[in-house]
Amino acid sequence: NQPLNFKQELTCVFGQPVAENPTQCMMEAAYNACGLEWRYLTIEVAPENLAQAVGGLRAMGFRGANLTIPHKVEVIQYLDGISDAAAMMGAVNCIVRKDDQLLGENTDGKGFVQSLKEVTDPAGKKIVMFGAGGAARAIGVETALAGAAEITIVNRSTERGEALAQLLQEKTGVPATFTKWDGDYTLADDVDVVINATSIGLFPDVDAVFPLDFASLKSNMIVSDVIPNPPETHLLREAAKAGCTTLDGLGMLVNQGVIGFQLWTGVDPDPQVMRAALEEVFGV
Ligand code: NDP
Repeated sequence: NQPLNFKQELTCVFGQPVAENPTQCMMEAAYNACGLEWRYLTIEVAPENLAQAVGGLRAMGFRGANLTIPHKVEVIQYLDGISDAAAMMGAVNCIVRKDDQLLGENTDGKGFVQSLKEVTDPAGKKIVMFGAGGAARAIGVETALAGAAEITIVNRSTERGEALAQLLQEKTGVPATFTKWDGDYTLADDVDVVINATSIGLFPDVDAVFPLDFASLKSNMIVSDVIPNPPETHLLREAAKAGCTTLDGLGMLVNQGVIGFQLWTGVDPDPQVMRAALEEVFGV
């Protein structure tokens, strides 16, 4: 006879704001499908309370956690170690408990690359990426480590754009250049992969216009967007019209969740179960 167990294993996300973060529904769907008695809590943590919140994870024996805006950089000082890729990006979005240590990982870029690999191998590809914030840093580093031939960073603010191009060039050795985003950007004919890593199109700004010369899209290009909500953006609609292969932000969200799930539980979840849970909440 097994003793009754009312104590579940705990995981969570810390953010502010955090109420609109849909990760809980995909993680708990995957825990259920794998027969794991685990929970995933959505917790609002203000920046000034982050140190105590991480202390709380330790005290309460949480098995893992995700970090979202604005904690991905600040959290590093409270951890016992971070992975090489997270150190290159200077950001952690996933904490994994190993014995009594809390270790930092970054699964955003790895999740993106996993989605991309479902349609093409990034090795040898010419990439144009819009944005130079946290998501762009993670995607830039992981696509470079996956063997991209060259990466053009297109960003509104010069300072962040130049800093990311320099980081990629210095830390990964992949040729990376910065172009200031001023009006509609025209893609060169030989671009293989186009990535939106900005927040343009994110709910509630769902009708946001994406500043691109859409006539420069070619049907052999792969066009991807990080925006998970709503998953169909202006950029992806125009790319589909031009005959491009498209990848939405749900793919990246699911795949970074798959990696976190494996790190925490040691079990491989079913990505289909996770995507279906997200599609249900977003009414796709
Ligand atoms: P940051 O605030 O760090 O960066 C935002 C980026 O978007 C900057 O490059 C900023 O440019 C640019 N930007 C914002 N508004 C505009 C605009 N109107 N015109 C031009 N550029 C603009 O955010 P994150 O990198 O953390 O997140 C970006 C997006 O990625 C979010 O929407 C988030 O939801 C999504 N995301 C999705 C994930 C997924 O799994 N699908 C995972 C992580 C993030 P500038 O430097 O000029 O300010």
